[in-house]
Parts: sequence; C-alpha cells; structure tokens
Amino acid sequence: MTTQTTASTVSFWINGQHTSSRGTRHGSVTNAATGRVVRTVPFANDADVDLAVESARAALPAWRATTPLRRARILMRFRDLLEQHTGEIAAAITEEHGKTLPDAAGSVQRGLEVVEFATGIPHLLKGEHAEDVGAGVDSHTVQQPLGVCAGITPFNFPIMCPMWMIPVALACGNTFVLKPSEKDPSASMLAAQLLQEAGLPDGVLNIVHGDKQAVDALLTHDDIAAVSFVGSTPVARHVYETASARGKRVQALGGAKNHAVVLPDADLDGAADALIGAAYGSAGERCMAISAVVAVGNAGDAIVSRLKERATALRIGPGDREGVEMGPLITQAHLDRVRGYIDTGDREGAELVVDGRGLSVAGYENGHFLGPTLFDRVTRDMSIYRDEIFGPVLVVVRAESDEDAIDIVNQSPYGNGTAVFTQSGAAARRFANAIQVGMVGVNVPIPVPMAFFSFGGWKSSLFGDLHMHGPDGVRFYTRTKVVTTRWPDRRDAVSLSMPTMK
Ligand code: NAD
Repeated sequence: MTTQTTASTVSFWINGQHTSSRGTRHGSVTNAATGRVVRTVPFANDADVDLAVESARAALPAWRATTPLRRARILMRFRDLLEQHTGEIAAAITEEHGKTLPDAAGSVQRGLEVVEFATGIPHLLKGEHAEDVGAGVDSHTVQQPLGVCAGITPFNFPIMCPMWMIPVALACGNTFVLKPSEKDPSASMLAAQLLQEAGLPDGVLNIVHGDKQAVDALLTHDDIAAVSFVGSTPVARHVYETASARGKRVQALGGAKNHAVVLPDADLDGAADALIGAAYGSAGERCMAISAVVAVGNAGDAIVSRLKERATALRIGPGDREGVEMGPLITQAHLDRVRGYIDTGDREGAELVVDGRGLSVAGYENGHFLGPTLFDRVTRDMSIYRDEIFGPVLVVVRAESDEDAIDIVNQSPYGNGTAVFTQSGAAARRFANAIQVGMVGVNVPIPVPMAFFSFGGWKSSLFGDLHMHGPDGVRFYTRTKVVTTRWPDRRDAVSLSMPTMK
C-alpha cells in the first residue's frame, strides 16, 4: 500500500486516485501532542464535490449489478487488510487526534466489526415472499440500493465513524462520497487505499475534504440520494433540515451529555473505575463519554472521593508514549474552549475538586494538554452542566432518590447514552424502562452497541428515524420494492375496478 500520511498535503480520493483540489482554500492538520502543523488539507469547492459525486454516479450501475456475495467478498478482504494495518491507522489517529495508541487501535477494531457485520448483509437483503396473495398471484419484496450516498464525519472517531457508514452502504449496493473531518483526515484515506487493494472498483468510494462549503455542496447535490452525518447537534440539525428539504434520506447523529446514575447500593469502587475510563478516556472527546454523574443519596461523598483519588493519579502525555492513559485535545482552539468552561464553572460556584488547568507536559509545552477536571455540587442551571464540553471535565450533581435521578436524565435535551450503577436488578430494570435515552448501560459505562445492533441516540442526539449500522443501517441504505406477479393460464376479463386480489 502506498501511504500519503507522511506527505505534507493530503489529497482527495476520486475515482480510485489521489486527486488535487481545483480550489485554493485549505486547512492545517496539527499533531495534537506537539501543536505542530503536520500536513495541510485542501478544502473542496463545488467543482471538487461535483467531480467526486460524478465518479460515484458513474460507478453505480456496475456496482449495483455486482452480486451481493461478490460485494461481500471484497469487504472480507478489506476486513483482513484493516486488521493487518491497524497499527498504521492507529498511529495516524494518535498523531492527528491525540488519543492514545491502544485507544486508537480499539477504535479501528470497532470499525472493523462493522465491516464484519457488512460481510453478512447478503442475508439481510433477502426479502419477503407470499404465495397466493390473490388467486394465482404472488408477491415478493426486494431491497434495492438508494444510489450515491454521502457521509460526513466528526474528528473524534476518524476511522470508526466512516466505518459505521461505508461498509454497510457499499454492501447494500450504493456508491459513496465521504467528507471526513478536516482535522484528522488521514485515517479515512488509508481505508480508501485498503479498499482498493481489497478489490473495490474505482469510483465506488470517493473522499473529499473540507468545511461547510463541501458539506453544503453534498447536502444540496441533485445526484446524492442519502446523507449520513455524525457530529455536533447544531450541525446535525442543519444537515437534517437542508438535505431532507431536498428529498434526501437523512440520518444525522448529534452531540450528547451522557449521565451516569450511581445508586447508593452500587459497587462504588467498580463504578469509580468505570467512570474514570468513561469520563477521561480519549480526553473526554467521545460522543458516548460520561460527562455528568448523578449521585443518589449517600453515594455522593463516597463516589466523589473515589473519583478524586483516581483522576489525580492518571498519567497524561503524548498518546504514542507507553503507559500514557490520556492524551491531548484535538486543537488549541478546542483546548481554550474547554478551559473556558472550567473558568466559568469555577465562577458559577461549583466545587472544583480536581483542576486540570495547571497541567504541563515536559517537552510538549505546545501540545493541547489539559488535566482531568472534576466538579462537585453542580446545579442544572450552570453551563458546565447544560453544554456538551467535549473534554476531560466531569460534573457531579446530587439527587435525593432514584426517581429524581431518572427525572434529571430525562430532562436533558440530549439522549445519546446513559448508565446506571447498582446491584439491584429491580432498580436497573426500572431505570432501563423509564429512561429517555437511545443506548443504556447497566453497570456498563459506555454502552456502545455491537455492530450487529444499531447505534443511535434520541432527542437532540439524532435527527432522522434510523440509527447507524446493524439492522437500521441496512434499512437506511436500501429501499423496498414489492413485486406482484401473475402468470396467467387463462385470459382474465377486463376490469376497471380497484384490484382486490380475490
Ligand atoms: P462538528 O459538528 O463540528 O463537525 C462534524 C462534521 O461536520 C465535520 O466533517 C465538519 O467538517 C462538518 N461541519 C462543521 N461545521 C459545519 C457547518 N457549519 N456546516 C456544515 N458542516 C460542518 O463536530 P466535531 O467537532 O468534528 O465532532 C464532535 C461532535 O460530534 C460532538 O458534538 C460529538 O458529541 C459528536 N459526535 C456524535 C456522535 C454520535 O454518535 N452521536 C459520534 C461522534 C461524535
């Protein structure tokens, strides 16, 4: 495989080739640990997007006509290549995003699992059949691809989020244009090259980079049939409204503020260990990160003291250094934004139990580092509670009872993930039943569904009707046709009445 990750300029991937931009706008990709610019990334203009969509449109008839089994076999080879190149992809993610190498490799694995799911999609493309829906008349359904689909993905999972979309869309017979995050574009470029090596015909997958201009060109393009988006809530809403107003099928996954409820009967040491990983893993830059703990009754002081002890012991540094548990944030601008929230929380009167602002990593003074931060006695009017901070900042709110805790979670405008920590099956069952959230964990802090289930939140965490990958992913990337068949062995009388299949 020829790799472009060490080149100073990232290219587009159009019709199976590295392609330069026709425009002049570009952005910078930084090494999150050093703060140094490592490459530049071209920002697609309308002509670039047209070229990518045209390539996908031209590749569609042959790809649609390729049997599902042959499509799946290409994905099987791709799955093996992804596994073989996990180290290389994880290194690109760690450099550009900052997360630790084991964490990056884990995200490659979660993407690979969607490829594994997609290799079984021929089974899910089977339709329904009913004999004798009328006298001598049978009906069957077929699941057909939509056409050219677009995917727009966020910075925090540069391989996993594209993999939520691409394998499923391709297995269903669609062709694809991806616009990955301009902040860490290299992992998806590596994946495109591996797909080519696996035998994917040119043009079936295309990649353009860029910002709002590229995204809007995709959302409004006449030849795009469907849009899958993952990112922040305001942009998800924009994507949903713009593309669906143009008749496209849309699934737009947005931001989150995920709560973990800790009940007094929980195994508090186990809960604290789980919460530390869920709050500070990937420096809190996960859509399923736990960013708010609701501590019920006397669980409050006990969980806060355990979280404090563990948070202060975390090892922070560059993600490629052995033993480091938490890396830097994505950009200096994001670091400044997260620090701003800590300043505000402090001013607003929350109890700052662990303050990550003083952290400096020797030799990496220009890296985007922030230490783990813990606030206690946070109230729901504070911005550190209301907003998605997307950094290593965990807030604790206190609740009187299980019911109060459920009410607090349900009043959040977001509904991506949540977890309850308890040793009571009855309490866990009540929680799972009443909670208004799409993905629920019982003593599991980050309940990300496996690839053969579907991933998606509720409320402002998802716009659209269908979640990603799993059965919903297949529904999203196909449309159903019902074929009604009669092979007459006699001539029927002409009838102008509504057919009733007697
Ligand atoms: P973002 O919304 O800023 O960007 C996402 C994508 O949209 C990127 O490709 C970006 O280039 C593009 N974009 C940005 N601004 C745009 C605009 N004004 N118009 C059109 N396109 C635009 O998100 P991010 O900062 O890259 O990622 C972090 C966010 O993603 C967090 O809010 C996180 O919760 C969310 N996220 C959600 C999920 C989920 O499954 N719900 C998963 C991962 C990340």
